[in-house]
Amino acid sequence: MVSSPSPSGDSTANDTIFGRILRGEIPCDPVYSDGQCLAFRDVQPQAPVHVLVIPRQWIPSLAEARLEDQELLGHLLLVASQVARQEGLSSWRTVINSGAEAGQTVFHLHVHVIGGRPLAWPPG
Ligand code: AMP
Repeated sequence: MVSSPSPSGDSTANDTIFGRILRGEIPCDPVYSDGQCLAFRDVQPQAPVHVLVIPRQWIPSLAEARLEDQELLGHLLLVASQVARQEGLSSWRTVINSGAEAGQTVFHLHVHVIGGRPLAWPPG
C-alpha cells in the first residue's frame, strides 16, 4: 500500500511528480493553464482523451481539502468541463481518486478528464 504524505499547503514541500511538473523540472503536454491550475495530458492515457487538471497549490488529496478551498475546487471542475469542450467531447467522465486503495498514486490532488470512447459503469 502506498502511504500518503502529511497534509500541507506548502508547495516547496511538494515532492510529487506533479509538483515537479509545476516547477518546470519535468516536461508535460499542457492543454490549459491559468493562475490557479494546470491541465496536461496523462502520460498513460486510458482513453483517446485523458487530461489531468491539477491545482498549483499543493493539496495531497480531496481528503485534505478544506472549506476554504471551495473556490479552487469549483474552479478545477469548471476547467475540467472547459477542457472536455476544447477536446471536442460531448460525453466524458471526471474522476478524483482519493487514497491509495481507491487508486490514487500521485498525492497531489488532480481531476481526471476521460473521454473519446464508451465508458463502462460501475468502474473497477
Ligand atoms: P491517480 O492514479 O488518480 O493518482 O492518477 C495519477 C495519474 O498520473 C495516472 O493516470 C498516471 O498515468 C499519471 N501520471 C503519472 N506521471 C505522469 C507524468 N509525468 N505526466 C503525466 N501524467 C502522469
